[in-house]
Amino acid sequence: MAKINLLDKSVFELIAAGEVIERPASVIKELVENSIDAGAEHITIEIKNGGSTFMRITDDGCGMPYEDIPTAFLRHATSKVKSADDLDRIFTLGFRGEALASVAAVSRVELLTKERDAEMGGSFRISGGEVEEHERTGCPDGTTIIIRDLFYNVPARQKFLKKDVTEGNQIQTLVDKLALAHPEIAFRFIRDNKCVRDTSGGGDYYSAIYSVFGKQFATSLIPVDFSLNSVSVTGYVSSPLFTRGNRSLQYFYVNGRYVRSVICTTALEEGFRNSIMVGKFPACVLNITMPPELCDVNVSPSKTEVRFAFDKNVFDVINFGVRNAILNADNRRDVRLEKKEIPAEKADLRSSDAILREKAEKAIAAVDTSAVHIAETVRTEPPKVFVPEEKPVYTQAETAPFRIKHEENPFVQQRFVSRPVTVEYDEDSDDETTEPPVPDAPKPAPEEQTGFRYIDSSSFSEHENVTEVTADPEKPRLKVIGEVFLTYIVCTCGDELILIDKHAAHERIRFEKRRTELITSSQLLAESVNVTLDADQYAAVAEHTDLLAEIGLEVVLSDGGVCEITAAPSTFTGEGGANSPAEMLLRAADALAGGNMNISDELYGDFLHTRACKSAIKAHDINSRAELEALANEVWFDERIRFCPHGRPIMLRLSEYELEKYFSRIQ
Ligand code: ADP
Ligand code: MG
Repeated sequence: MAKINLLDKSVFELIAAGEVIERPASVIKELVENSIDAGAEHITIEIKNGGSTFMRITDDGCGMPYEDIPTAFLRHATSKVKSADDLDRIFTLGFRGEALASVAAVSRVELLTKERDAEMGGSFRISGGEVEEHERTGCPDGTTIIIRDLFYNVPARQKFLKKDVTEGNQIQTLVDKLALAHPEIAFRFIRDNKCVRDTSGGGDYYSAIYSVFGKQFATSLIPVDFSLNSVSVTGYVSSPLFTRGNRSLQYFYVNGRYVRSVICTTALEEGFRNSIMVGKFPACVLNITMPPELCDVNVSPSKTEVRFAFDKNVFDVINFGVRNAILNADNRRDVRLEKKEIPAEKADLRSSDAILREKAEKAIAAVDTSAVHIAETVRTEPPKVFVPEEKPVYTQAETAPFRIKHEENPFVQQRFVSRPVTVEYDEDSDDETTEPPVPDAPKPAPEEQTGFRYIDSSSFSEHENVTEVTADPEKPRLKVIGEVFLTYIVCTCGDELILIDKHAAHERIRFEKRRTELITSSQLLAESVNVTLDADQYAAVAEHTDLLAEIGLEVVLSDGGVCEITAAPSTFTGEGGANSPAEMLLRAADALAGGNMNISDELYGDFLHTRACKSAIKAHDINSRAELEALANEVWFDERIRFCPHGRPIMLRLSEYELEKYFSRIQ
């Protein structure tokens, strides 16, 4: 073997720098964090060529004493930590004293800094770790640091830099993350001489989100505010209706520090489970705060990893916080009717035919002139505009249900000859989809299948098999007034008009019921089952035996990774789920090891989805008023039921106020 050498300081510095500084964005992260730690209220970040040739960070923070400047550039030099005890309670973003030394080792650095009370500031230049200048100079309060030619002395690293655009985008994302964590600071980001981000500072969290995410996203956000056992979560999540195809807009902060954390991501997505389509991801900006001794940020040199003293606690705070927020925000789903306001003086008093004709002429003229610009692949037919040749004659349809008095309406009577469809199904017989036709149930005429049916109390007989909802005495029941398109139950309550998708609603009700049944069906095994777990699974099971017990899995752990299962739920889901207690335990262990504490959904989720969907009432099924009423009220009183298990909304609410506004009854 070769002789062991003590590395030369310059080589050692390069190796150490490599751990902290991977790319331009890592430089920006370290330097902006220093500015934040210095109490800056304004931070300007400028980059050129994706940061590889030029980066400048200017802040109005506390500045550094002239004499301390060279020390700040030494490795392990920091003003933020003094003793080992301090490491347990870190309030600043920096604490390792490595950033300036690392940056200076791999680039050319210029620094100007001045403390507020000092008469003169200092200027300092250092390249590749060699000090080139240290002088007193006049300069503004705060610190300006310029980094040129990153990795000029480490060609191997330079080779790995991506295109300028990519590196620049990474910096942009990073600046956004920092800006969102610190709404009290005004951030400005200038990219190749163009200002691309400008947040206002002043502490308004929402306006920081608005600047970063833009209007559409910001206006659909749902606020989160929840605490449990001295851990709290505040911030915003996206509405279940505005989801994304990936996780790029999930921002988590722990005590003001941007972190990547599997626990946080899993808990967020768990909070959204059954409110969001499978394969879609929520977006969030969530701030988790806890006493600093409950989390360890000193895990990696880049300080973006974090370890929690109590994973489950953090998981629960986020999961429940998000769930609550989505439920409470449900009234955001109310329909807002948009009325086109035409000021009286501009109102068009011509006949509607004249207006249509003019629109048509304009549209056709527009197509003629623009046709030359349209690529071949684009359809070039003129837009379809309906121009009535002559005035249509309207006749009153004789069968219109609303014209006939309810009592003598054969249309209504006929439709409510009750057919024994019940809200409860025996799912295991699996034959509900092929229910035998009831001979005297009349087939609805085609127009009835899509039209509105008015439900009259005299037009149906009561049903025994309908679930009675124990209504909240404070909350009035829904009044079912009809059904449209054989799909949506039309109800009113107080000053609201409510439409409920009957399939989605029933599916969700079935889902919740079956879930409770499955989870509470544990039984002792006649012969216990031994399973050998790998180290991660074993550790996760050991830590969370209580969670396993909650879903009916009782286990005893012994040496060598062996886990003995003594009791298990009596139902095994099969169909892609677990077929045996052993399989169930392995799946639960993997979920726990991956940070997902909601093992019941992990084990049963897919199975329940399929089962619930299969057994639920379908659109176009014919249901009695009693069934529809029971269904509607079950939805109304159970706040869990707002989205179907696949994340589609169940209910749509329109207020009388909205209608009155729309019809100009009120201004
Ligand atoms: P750390 O942030 O871990 O302390 P750094 O190498 O990033 O280590 O910085 C070293 C020291 O330099 C800091 O502890 C701080 O005292 C000082 N410093 C760095 N940047 C600034 C700044 N923008 N304003 C004031 N002081 C700064
Ligand atoms: Mg630092």
